[in-house]
Amino acid sequence: MAIKVGIVGYGTIGKRVADAVAMQKDMKLVGVTTHSYSFNTEVAKAKGYKIFTIGDVPDLEPNGITPDGDMNNLLDEADVIVDGTPKDIGRENIEKYYKPRKLKAVVQGGEKHKTTGISFVAQCNYNEAINKDYVRIVSCNTTGLCRTLDAVNKKYGITSVHATMIRRGADPGDIYHGPINAIVPVLEMPSHHGPDVQTVLHNVEIFTTALSVPSTLMHLHTLTVDLKKKASVNDVIELFNNSTRIRVVRNAEHLRSTAEIIEFARDIGRLRGDMPEICVWQEAIGVTSNSHNKLLYMQAIHQESNVIPENIDCIRAMTGFKDVEKSIKMTNETFGIK
Ligand code: NAD
Repeated sequence: MAIKVGIVGYGTIGKRVADAVAMQKDMKLVGVTTHSYSFNTEVAKAKGYKIFTIGDVPDLEPNGITPDGDMNNLLDEADVIVDGTPKDIGRENIEKYYKPRKLKAVVQGGEKHKTTGISFVAQCNYNEAINKDYVRIVSCNTTGLCRTLDAVNKKYGITSVHATMIRRGADPGDIYHGPINAIVPVLEMPSHHGPDVQTVLHNVEIFTTALSVPSTLMHLHTLTVDLKKKASVNDVIELFNNSTRIRVVRNAEHLRSTAEIIEFARDIGRLRGDMPEICVWQEAIGVTSNSHNKLLYMQAIHQESNVIPENIDCIRAMTGFKDVEKSIKMTNETFGIK
């Protein structure tokens, strides 16, 4: 029987998870929430998704949208909720709505690890989420760090990592954080990303720094990784090429920047021009020539989409599907990820 999934919070993440759920053969989208009329509700209606109101939404009917019920109706029908609300509201919703109904819920990276006690990246720790009631998908930056570092750690062993996150200033559709014209360092050491990685890769020693730049398309990470075993550039390229949800991109393809990666994603027909894979630049992979145990690389993170496959695998794990490789394969196929 299909897993019935409801989406609370139909924004950047929620609308993508809704589309992804609708594409899974073993899932059924119950519907999405709204608390005001907008182009998002028009899109949900055009896609045939049921729309459930939060509170009084007087501007829906005059704009030709008849809601299918309120949030309680959505919660009644769903087996699992994916909560895509802004920071802290997911935590409040667990206490207020999901726990009293014994309803399973996935929350997002704006919530703290202690909200659920389990933080998730499918290829790293799927098993920790099996049959759990509340799980947090880590942020886009943490997901990116975990995917590549997990592959490196399994092959070479990691002594320590230093990573710098060069973060986009705002999402493309966000008019509240811009216009922007500054480089803004995160004035705390380490930035929160390092401790967040350890909620998934529990034994990796990592120190992170971060800054934001006036760009909206993607984040870019630079990493320096001290390894337990010697590595070569060619072996690392092969490792990333053979790891799921990591795409090695090349100067030769003229994929030299975040802009060209997003243009490429549009050209290959990805929904919304999304690039859920972590893109590692082949020419920017380096290994120190004297000791061969210091690895350097750069990767680009599409913040709006890389956590979406994670939400799908997490739903399966929480509802008892035990085969991680099969889940990742099923999800990847629907996203067109090799
Ligand atoms: P968003 O602002 O784009 O969307 C949030 C949605 O929730 C909006 O539709 C809003 O109307 C709705 N909402 C607000 N209050 C609500 C409430 N009380 N009940 C129900 N719905 C409510 O936010 P987002 O960027 O999608 O972020 C959602 C979560 O995902 C956050 O935890 C964020 O940290 C995380 N996240 C965001 C990104 C990103 O790049 N945008 C990446 C990874 C993780």
